[in-house]
Amino acid sequence: MFEKVLIANRGEIALRLHRACREMGIKTVAVHSTADSDAMHVRLADESVCIGPPPAMDSYLNMPAILAAAEITGAEGIHPGYGFLSENADFAHIVTEHGYTFIGPTEQHIRTMGDKIEAKKMVRDLGIPVVPGSDGEVTDPEEAVALAEDIGYPLLIKAASGGGGRGMKLVRQASEFADALAAARRESKAAFNDDAVYIERYLEQPRHIEIQVIGDGTGKVVHLGERDCSLQRNNQKVLEEAPSPALNDAVRQKIGQTVVDALSQIKYTSLGTVEFLYEDGEFYFIEMNTRLQVEHPVTEAITGIDLVREQIRIAAGAPLSFSQEDISFHGHAIECRINAEHPTTFVPSPGQVGDFHAPGGLGVRVDSGLYAGYRIPPNYDSLIAKLVVHGTTRNDCLMRLSRALEEFVIGGIDVNIPLHADVIQQQSFIDGDYHIHWLEEFLGHHK
Ligand code: ADP
Repeated sequence: MFEKVLIANRGEIALRLHRACREMGIKTVAVHSTADSDAMHVRLADESVCIGPPPAMDSYLNMPAILAAAEITGAEGIHPGYGFLSENADFAHIVTEHGYTFIGPTEQHIRTMGDKIEAKKMVRDLGIPVVPGSDGEVTDPEEAVALAEDIGYPLLIKAASGGGGRGMKLVRQASEFADALAAARRESKAAFNDDAVYIERYLEQPRHIEIQVIGDGTGKVVHLGERDCSLQRNNQKVLEEAPSPALNDAVRQKIGQTVVDALSQIKYTSLGTVEFLYEDGEFYFIEMNTRLQVEHPVTEAITGIDLVREQIRIAAGAPLSFSQEDISFHGHAIECRINAEHPTTFVPSPGQVGDFHAPGGLGVRVDSGLYAGYRIPPNYDSLIAKLVVHGTTRNDCLMRLSRALEEFVIGGIDVNIPLHADVIQQQSFIDGDYHIHWLEEFLGHHK
């Protein structure tokens, strides 16, 4: 096992990683920008190294500075968390090249899954159902128009290198297609330095359902059930739950097994999430994330498994400590992403936190680096806390979540707690009857 791990991230996930290491007897090294000197995980870590100024390009994405920090502190493993360098195959390569262990999948798997066109081809060949669309990149406008006719409208033009809900263009009719294709390629080149785009049928009212997997590199892969992440705004997740109110056990086991069979063929290593859209009883692959996800705690709540601990164990060369038969699901869990933003206008609200009181009690988990007086820097993502609630049934979970949201006090800044409180009172949400556009429709009616 590692003696010391460097945490190449910030915020709540850096704290999450620190906690897992601590419980495993592993020393931690925090790296941070000058904007994060007072962050909770920096205070708690055994050692900390400042790696640059506030812009992420100069700090959390600064590979030489991170490697230098590993060298000075003698860290053996580097955990990238999510975002930043977590799905950067070059980083995984350089880390390994310098003799450290990258706590994540292999460089090759990160690279393939990071190219959405390659990923789609690979998983389709491995037997996973994908969204109908182009076989690969589309370049020639005339061929593309013909192909678009075959796929049918509406359709999406997607950037091969897109991510974080960016790089997607909806085309409703043939007359808009040629212009949209040219624009999509231009925009993708500007945003991701890659003009490769592909087309996909646009599903009107699907749910977003993703399967959590873990593999140890020997071909042994286990799935840990699904998360329903259909509550989204701007293609970004707002609230996640497990299990999905839309699946029954037979459907769950079938898709889980399909994913396990596929990923064991490539001897997948570490944590991974296979994302699907689910409509009319069919699953359609959209992408695979080769990292720890923001919403991993809902899976931890219903399986009782510490995903980060397992991920670290596997990176250290240990085999998976459980088999598929050992996995069972208990109760229901919901995670609310608490953002520093106005609950109705969504304008970001960094600044100094006034009063701070996190809810507690049975079945309540709060992952957050916040404390009273902490100054949230304006440079990063607005996610400041995750409230994860577990209950015996979905209804118990909702009652508990409602009371936990009432207890949560974050003063001095705008937060989206009232939005969550409002959403979970809506009848369609209570009935589990919602899809990926539901939240935006709900917000539209409220305006
Ligand atoms: P990203 O990497 O940017 O997160 P994804 O491919 O995972 O991109 O898609 C993000 C979200 O965009 C999905 O959860 C879904 O809401 C929407 N989306 C993606 N593909 C489609 C599609 N073919 N039809 C309808 N919605 C889609």
